[in-house]
Amino acid sequence: MVVQITVPVDGREVQWVKSLEGTPAEREEAGHAIGKEVGRVISEAALNEAATEVRHPSCCGRRMEIRGRRAIMVQGVDGPLRIRRTRYRCRTCGHESTPADGLQTCGRHRLTRQLAKRVWQSTCQ
Ligand SMILES: [Zn+2]
Repeated sequence: MVVQITVPVDGREVQWVKSLEGTPAEREEAGHAIGKEVGRVISEAALNEAATEVRHPSCCGRRMEIRGRRAIMVQGVDGPLRIRRTRYRCRTCGHESTPADGLQTCGRHRLTRQLAKRVWQSTCQ
C-alpha cells in the first residue's frame, strides 16, 4: 500500500509518500507516524512564524542592533523542530538577546512550552 499526503503550509507544499507494508497493525503504526510528522511540520512552521513577530528589543535606552538569524533545534510534542530566530546585541553594554526563545521555549530548555506542559501533566498525575 502506497500512501501520499500533501499538506500546504504557508504557501509551500510538504509531501510524504510512504510505502506501508507489513501486518495491518504495523500499517496502523506507520499511519500514526505520518500523522505525527504532519503535526511536527505544522508546529515548526507556526514557531518560525511566531519568531518573526517578536517585538524589536531595546537596551540602555536604544534599540538593539540585529546580529543575524540563527537556527536552533527545539524538541516539540511530535519531534525535533528547527527554529530560526533573530539575535540582537546592545551597542552600549554588549548584552545579547534572542527574545523569541522566551516565547517559544520553556525557560532555557530547548523544548516547546506545549511539550513541557505535557511532561508536567504526565508526572503530576
Ligand atoms: Zn545595553
